[in-house]
Amino acid sequence: MYAQVIIDITNEALDRPYTYHIPEGMQVGAGDRVSIPFGNSRIPKNGYVISLSEQSAYDEDKLKDILGVVSNAISVKEQLIQLAVWMSREYGTTLNQCLKTVLPVKKTVRKNLRRIDPMERYREETDEQHILNPEQQIAADAIVSGIRSCFARKKVSPDRTPGSLDLTQPENTGKTQDPPRYLVFGITGSGKTEVYLHAIEETLALKRKVIMLIPEISLTFQTVLRISSRFRGKVAILHSRMSLGERYEQYMKCERGEVDILVGPRSAIFAPFDNLGLIIMDEEHEGAYKSETAPRYETRDVAFQRAKLTDCPVVYGSATPSLDIFTKALHGEIRLLELTHRAKPGSTLAATEIIDLRKELAEGNRSIFSRRLNELMTEALDKKEQIMLFMNRRGYSSFISCRSCGEAVKCPHCDVSLTLHRDGMLRCHYCGYETPRMKLCPSCGSPYLAPFGFGTERLEEYVKQSFPDAGVLRMDADTTRNKGGHERILAAFRAHRADILIGTQMIVKGHDFPDVTLVGMIAADLSLSAPDFKAQERTFQLITQAAGRAGRDREAGHVIIQTYQPEHYAIQLAARQDYRIFYEQEMAFRKLMGYPPVERLMTIQLQCADENLLDAVSELAVKEMSGYCAACNAELIGPLRATVYRVNDIFRKIIYIKHGSHDIIIQLRDQCQELIRQHDRRSQILLNFDLQ
Ligand code: ADP
Ligand code: ZN
Ligand code: ZN
Repeated sequence: MYAQVIIDITNEALDRPYTYHIPEGMQVGAGDRVSIPFGNSRIPKNGYVISLSEQSAYDEDKLKDILGVVSNAISVKEQLIQLAVWMSREYGTTLNQCLKTVLPVKKTVRKNLRRIDPMERYREETDEQHILNPEQQIAADAIVSGIRSCFARKKVSPDRTPGSLDLTQPENTGKTQDPPRYLVFGITGSGKTEVYLHAIEETLALKRKVIMLIPEISLTFQTVLRISSRFRGKVAILHSRMSLGERYEQYMKCERGEVDILVGPRSAIFAPFDNLGLIIMDEEHEGAYKSETAPRYETRDVAFQRAKLTDCPVVYGSATPSLDIFTKALHGEIRLLELTHRAKPGSTLAATEIIDLRKELAEGNRSIFSRRLNELMTEALDKKEQIMLFMNRRGYSSFISCRSCGEAVKCPHCDVSLTLHRDGMLRCHYCGYETPRMKLCPSCGSPYLAPFGFGTERLEEYVKQSFPDAGVLRMDADTTRNKGGHERILAAFRAHRADILIGTQMIVKGHDFPDVTLVGMIAADLSLSAPDFKAQERTFQLITQAAGRAGRDREAGHVIIQTYQPEHYAIQLAARQDYRIFYEQEMAFRKLMGYPPVERLMTIQLQCADENLLDAVSELAVKEMSGYCAACNAELIGPLRATVYRVNDIFRKIIYIKHGSHDIIIQLRDQCQELIRQHDRRSQILLNFDLQ
């Protein structure tokens, strides 16, 4: 027997399978980690077996023996390896890196270091089960029929698992029918979670497993509580603040069949379940579902790929679906299931008001609170109701700048301003550089340095001054750095130990606080002015989510949106909670500009410490690419400097390629990579691909 093995080195040149001979009596399977001799090195290397074969195309004498199976290695499902193969091609990342992404990393938990499970305190909390309303019932029935039909198909042809992987043809698009996909499109509080729970019950009844993705565990803490109390003892949980050992333990619970459900953020899509019956992706539009490191995968696509490999339905859910998913729903690729009103009897959507900050200033109000917000805050505090204030920027004030020369104080290693914190330190939010606040301008020596802008820390101070009797909590990247930080703050607020919760976008998402009747967005424009074609979409999502926080219960809520651009369609339509009109407007814009999801956009980022080499290579590559691109009508833009050109003393340039066809985009990316490699002989340039 022979094994095809990927060598465990992060080197593109070795990113192809090598054939080894399996010695008599050795038990080796696909997915095993093995020890093998490689090249002239005397030290054995590790590799992953991706397939087995009876015969070898190579001369028997030339093949080396596998030395052994690496002890305690995890034997993984071929399905996950297939997924890695697909990801490697789709996202232009080495197979090795993809294997490391899809396979759980083996780590042991040091028992004495185990912390108390933050969920423990809430274990007693019981979840009330509801009788579904007619809309929920229609949605649940549709999903259940999908689950059953996949189950029935499986009984006819038990496994699609192929014997070996064909690396040249990773897209295994046989004649088989794609599994069904659903979009539960429901306003906040419409009972989407209740529908998921129903679908999970059905799946478990068929003895199948469930992956439930949520954007970030702590952000939807209550969702986790509901699932784990409904399915007691059957749930494993992943979250980003767990140690590697703790995560590994959760994965192993899945692999050993001790649990039926894995709840977690994007990496939960790689749960080692062999009889998966359902994938749920809550808050599908969330940015956190996109991986920020290579492979820069889009979880919604990986989820569909995994569903195809295993043949199970995918349920996406959102109040503000991504344009991509909603377009597919309108085209009928995904079945649209709509929930149009709040599930809790008597609960209504909050009244939303847009406040024009330009007018406030013109009328002499220099405070960061508009008169209307101030009035409503006073009222709510009098009535002992709770308030959430949202500010898209952390820190004390955003930066300090010089009144003499106008320069902002910048990070010496990055092209961004340093952020001023209350402890008097200036910090770079890109590379972590910090320095005490200086007295003189580093550019011109002038003593007139003044803080500029506003962050959450400063907002907190301001609120405490204006409302000295109110209890205030703040939740942002700085206050939640410790393990359990999120949970502690949320639990305190939920128990009404504070009246006002201040925070960055992490407070707007998914929480259900029945006593919150007022939500204030201090500066809605911050997200609108981001240099990204998705800025409007994000702003719309943020405002809609924030608005969903107020008046979740019977108490009618107020939402105040303070902005300098009150007429902007993203703000107007979010205030009216009109997703469909927003979708039309935004799609018209994307069509006009040729942006995704209308066309595919490949971003190629080149990073290099040597600026001259970076310039030369990127210019050459673009010149040579222009021919290829012209031939297939693709648009080529660049090379441009990245928005933040220098980070940690590394320079970054961008090349964009736009085309309507996914396959052509992938081809052009490969060509571009090859050209760059030809000019960059010593591999000094790091390449990053991002497919949108
Ligand atoms: P979503 O996930 O869409 O934001 P949830 O599932 O969290 O909505 O439901 C919002 C609230 O309504 C929750 O408190 C939930 O217990 C309640 N709820 C859900 N479905 C029903 C129902 N059919 N009848 C009564 N209350 C319901
Ligand atoms: Zn100056
Ligand atoms: Zn920096």
